[in-house]
Amino acid sequence: MVSLSNHERTDDLVLGIDVGGTKILSAVIDPEGNKVSEYLTATRASEGFEEVLKSIVESGFGALVKAGKGFSEVRATGLAVAGLIDAKDGIVRASPNLPGWRNVPLRDRVEAAFGNRVFLINDAHAAAAGEHYFGAGRGCRDFVYITVSTGIGGGLILNNELYEGANGFGGEVGHMVIDDKGPLCNCGNRGCWEMLASGKALEREALRLIESGSNTTIPLFCHPDPEQSEGEGSQSHPIKCITAKAIHAAALAGDPLAVELIQRTGYYLGVGLSNIINIFNPELIVIGGGLSNIGDMLFKPAIEEAHRRAFKQSFDLVKFTLAELGAYSGVIGAAAYARQQLGRPKE
Ligand SMILES: [Zn+2]
Repeated sequence: MVSLSNHERTDDLVLGIDVGGTKILSAVIDPEGNKVSEYLTATRASEGFEEVLKSIVESGFGALVKAGKGFSEVRATGLAVAGLIDAKDGIVRASPNLPGWRNVPLRDRVEAAFGNRVFLINDAHAAAAGEHYFGAGRGCRDFVYITVSTGIGGGLILNNELYEGANGFGGEVGHMVIDDKGPLCNCGNRGCWEMLASGKALEREALRLIESGSNTTIPLFCHPDPEQSEGEGSQSHPIKCITAKAIHAAALAGDPLAVELIQRTGYYLGVGLSNIINIFNPELIVIGGGLSNIGDMLFKPAIEEAHRRAFKQSFDLVKFTLAELGAYSGVIGAAAYARQQLGRPKE
């Protein structure tokens, strides 16, 4: 795909902000999707809306100062937030990262603070847009982006456009029900995809098997946060600290239970992928998020299961690839979205 704006001046800048549960990353982004500057600050989500707003302003301002720019020198701000985001009205309906937020008019408050146009977007939608313009989905007309980390998020690029749905809540693939008798999800349903194929699913199953006496070395690969160990010696490995990373490390060292847990997670990942393939018939599925670092041990069983279940013609066409923008997909995508919303041609 041709860059967003070949004919624009190189100082044609947009600010991207990605509000995570613990950190806010801001970056000044040029028309080619390059970071001119970046600034990271704590979200302080537990301190409530006004404090988070201050953190957002601090983060955006910090990135601008590093770029030697003022708010009036960036054309717009793209603001990515996890959860149910009403992009049209600029309202955070609910967010897993921001406890207690209900119907918060975040766009208007940030606009008032910055004095420039602000466009609010779901973080997985932003990442999909980022991968579409500048990452693994360049030149791809129909693809599905999924991020597999603690939970599972998704973004749909259909007919070269980000598909947000009627009120912006589209693409919530993580809450596709895979097993209606499965584990209870925060959304109120049982057996959502993210309850079976995400980092938290992997960790929950490991904990369950360890507590029921299964033989495994996984706890030996856990490194508890020293601030939370309350004086326990370094030889102590409380099983509550079990992470996907520790399970992966144990699997790499040959622990059979860890390998089986990852393969089981891969199996469920594949069940969901087959649904996505059958529903959207995408040419590409871009996979990001922390759990994708596990690589083939997770993806091989996933792709095998998707192969078994999806329509043959659709499976034969689809390609799977890893996301390219990593931790920057949110800021780069939010900036690209803001630029696009300003009415610039996309190709
Ligand atoms: Zn759910």
